[in-house]
Amino acid sequence: MVSASPQRRYVQVAVPVPLYGLFDYAVPADSRVPEAGCRLQLRFGHRELIGICCGTIDQPATAADKIREYQACLDSEPVIPASLMHLLQRASQYYHHPLGDVLATALPTALMQGRAVDEGGRSLWRLTQQGREEPLEALQRAPKQRAIVAVLRESDGYCDAGSLSARFENWRSSVKALIEKEWLEAISLPPERSAVVRPGPELNEEQRAAVDGVPSEQGFSTTLLRGVTGSGKTEVYFRWIERCLAQGRQALVLVPEIGLTPQLLERFSQRFEANLVVLHSGMTDLERLRSWQLAAAGRAHIVLGTRSALFTPMPALGLIVIDEEHDASFKQQEGFRYHARDLAALRAQAEAIPLILGTATPSFESHHNVRQGRYRELRLSQRAGGARPPIIRMVDARQHRSGSPLSHSLDRAVEQHLAAGNQVMLFLNRRGYAPTLICPQCGWHSDCERCDAHMTLHFQPSVLRCHHCGSEQRPPPHCPSCGHRNLQHQGQGTEQLTMFLEERFPEATISRIDRDSTRRKGSLEAELKKVQRGEVDMLVGTQMLAKGHHFPSVTLVGVLDCDRGLFSADFKATEHMAQLILQVAGRAGRADKPGEVLIQSTQPDHPLMHCLITQGYEAFTQQALKERQVLGLPPFGFAALLRAESVEREAAMRFLQSLCPASPDGDVQWLGPIPSPMERRAGRYRAQLLLLSQNRKALHVVLAGLVHTIQQQGSIKNVRWSLDVDPTNTL
Ligand code: ADP
Ligand code: ZN
Ligand code: ZN
Repeated sequence: MVSASPQRRYVQVAVPVPLYGLFDYAVPADSRVPEAGCRLQLRFGHRELIGICCGTIDQPATAADKIREYQACLDSEPVIPASLMHLLQRASQYYHHPLGDVLATALPTALMQGRAVDEGGRSLWRLTQQGREEPLEALQRAPKQRAIVAVLRESDGYCDAGSLSARFENWRSSVKALIEKEWLEAISLPPERSAVVRPGPELNEEQRAAVDGVPSEQGFSTTLLRGVTGSGKTEVYFRWIERCLAQGRQALVLVPEIGLTPQLLERFSQRFEANLVVLHSGMTDLERLRSWQLAAAGRAHIVLGTRSALFTPMPALGLIVIDEEHDASFKQQEGFRYHARDLAALRAQAEAIPLILGTATPSFESHHNVRQGRYRELRLSQRAGGARPPIIRMVDARQHRSGSPLSHSLDRAVEQHLAAGNQVMLFLNRRGYAPTLICPQCGWHSDCERCDAHMTLHFQPSVLRCHHCGSEQRPPPHCPSCGHRNLQHQGQGTEQLTMFLEERFPEATISRIDRDSTRRKGSLEAELKKVQRGEVDMLVGTQMLAKGHHFPSVTLVGVLDCDRGLFSADFKATEHMAQLILQVAGRAGRADKPGEVLIQSTQPDHPLMHCLITQGYEAFTQQALKERQVLGLPPFGFAALLRAESVEREAAMRFLQSLCPASPDGDVQWLGPIPSPMERRAGRYRAQLLLLSQNRKALHVVLAGLVHTIQQQGSIKNVRWSLDVDPTNTL
């Protein structure tokens, strides 16, 4: 037992567990007190975990003799610098999410697993080509060297002192020998250098005005760069980045999950001869750690990443750019449900630097913030380089030849554009062959056993697959319920559409791009290259096609299923649908060839759609916002969604009901609880409670109270819950 003495020192630690609050630990007697932001290895209950020191405390809340010592401090310098720690603490409060989990989300996985930060001359080593390929027999007489190489070949080929010490004793001489034999090479931080920026095209007037619209003297501001697709927004970002680098500062650029394409990377590296690092989910943990180190050491000039790259320490950060700011992937949909755009605004404010939000189709929040005078707005109204805007038309999906997924007008247009030697892109946001299989005799549906959803029929390979829980089964040869032999598929997926088109346009080469067709690593890039080289006449795809790609020869875009967005229970569905339609439309006619966009709908006269097509996105936004205003929905009010789920029917509903006050006070509306629109998913019953208020503060007081009450109750048997502040998806 540890005896309490006046000299003992204590720290408060954020631990990555789903519990609120910090935990007190004692500093081991012979250690120095760690700085806030350093990692501590510790025992929590019976588990070994890594927590983050959040500061010292004189009087621990727990009795001094009950407090444990942590085992070790892993860092000599904080891995989370003070400014970032402050941001994450505010985020933890705003999203009502435990700080330990917030910090764990913000740090690279490798660091939370105890990897060493490569600092103070510490190195990473990696296998050379020889080290990867030479037969191991060559190391016959050096068993330890051989063992080290064998281990590295099994993993990603990188190691550091920490990982070697964990497996080998006295490994240093072996590593040295391997470096001499050129089987291993040390990689350390690249030398400091200044970035060289190659010249870009001469800016047009609007672009120049936009560049000048953000004053170069430092200071916080948020700017919405509203520019139609192809208007040269990226060129404008480049000038701002250039200016930032010239001041000796670092730039952070966030792009959507599927926007970080090889094309974009190439564009950046062609323009900037600089230390450019990327951060995205397709990288290994060590690759991510490497990028993080370079950024945190101030050596990376530009960090280009997806959502969580926002939390990268950058000591000389001078600019944040968020491209496609409306994109849904900036909101995390599980665990710590933060919005990278909203936290970027906090970070930019704290660091007193400009934040740029670029898009052709601003989120309603950003549009509203401009109207409220909180954001500055700059516009690019014309396509750069002379390309003309596409012509968009609605066509009636009900007028088609029987069995054809294409309406008469779309069919004719495809024919014409192909005959003219151009490329055609058809967009259907549903993969697989058909969304469901049914029995015409008894009405049986291919329902998932674990979800309230149909299983999708896939043709190659032939399988019924649930897109919600991943369950799979062989398509039954006859109806499982009545034995009828002719089961029929209903609806269209990309697979079926492709097969139809192959028959309808036998001369055309067709490429399908969706999550199924691009599962293999590198296959998406290969397919896109084919399109670019003109080896493909027709492209069929899901929303994977909507963003970031540049298809200069596509002159016709057809959208086949825009109706789903109009009749969804989610209040954001129409907004997302309009953004998607314009994104897809923006793929057409970007170069010298004018584009045509046909949107097929069973409701071609729907007033919102009509407004979007005839008057444009801004008029559409204003009209759609009127509906939200009447209902007090965001951005006019503030929302939070409390979700619960349980394997037991009713338990989630009961849990949420138990939290609702008998007589709610006037400032916050309690809507629900209701069973979620898809009540059962992956075998769990789900329910939700929506809280709405015109008063952000009042809402957050209620949320804090809710979280407190739930914590007080202790764990509720069989119920999992989560809180989503500012939800972007209410399904
Ligand atoms: P956005 O990001 O708005 O979609 P991009 O920056 O990708 O637009 O520009 C679209 C195309 O126009 C690119 O090929 C780009 O190189 C070109 N471009 C941009 N600005 C100019 C300019 N001022 N003069 C000539 N071409 C330009
Ligand atoms: Zn049947
Ligand atoms: Zn399922």
